[in-house]
Amino acid sequence: MEQELSRRTLLFGHSGLTGQDDVIRPPWALTPEDFAKKCTGCGECVSACPEKILKIDTHNLAKVDFSQGECTFCRDCVASCRDGALVMLDPETPWLLDISIEGKCLAMKGVECRACDDQCEPRAIRFKLTPAAVAMPQLNEQECTGCGACISVCPSEAIVLKPAIQKEGE
Ligand code: SF4
Ligand code: SF4
Ligand code: SF4
Repeated sequence: MEQELSRRTLLFGHSGLTGQDDVIRPPWALTPEDFAKKCTGCGECVSACPEKILKIDTHNLAKVDFSQGECTFCRDCVASCRDGALVMLDPETPWLLDISIEGKCLAMKGVECRACDDQCEPRAIRFKLTPAAVAMPQLNEQECTGCGACISVCPSEAIVLKPAIQKEGE
C-alpha cells in the first residue's frame, strides 16, 4: 500500500489531481487529495449504485458519469465504501459542483428545446418565455443540487457540471 500511495502522490502531485480538475468524484467524497489516497478502486460503490452512474477511471479511482443517468443521493455508495474515501461529514452537502450551459445549447441557437427543463426537479433551470422568440434557459445555480439529471437528456451536450473551485478560507 505504501508503494501505491507513493505512486498516487507522483501521479497527482501534492495539491490534488493534476489534469483531473473536471472529474466529478462520487457524492460525499473526501477532498481530491485525500480521496486519491483513500480510494483503492475496489469498485464497491460502482456495484452499489442503483443508477449505474459510477465508474472506475484510468487512475483506478471512482468517478461519476452522468451520461447514463442521475444521482438520487440514495447514499448507497457511501455505505458501500470500506476504505473511508466516501464519508458523510455533512449530509446536506454531497458535493460542491458548478453548473453552466454552453453556447452550443439548441435554444441559444434559436432552436426550440426544453429537454433540461423537464428533468430538473428543483427547478434550477427555467425557461424565459419571450413573444415570437425561442424560450431561453435560465440557470439558478443556488437551486442546483448537482444531480446531473439534465446532462444525459441534453441533445447538444451543452450542460457542464464540474467540481467547484474552492477559494481560500472556504
Ligand atoms: S448517492 Fe446513490 S445514486 Fe448517487 S452515486 Fe451514490 S449510489 Fe449512485
Ligand atoms: S444538475 Fe442542477 S440543473 Fe441539472 S437537473 Fe440537477 S438540479 Fe437541475
Ligand atoms: S436540453 Fe440542452 S440544448 Fe436543450 S435547452 Fe437545455 S441546455 Fe439547451
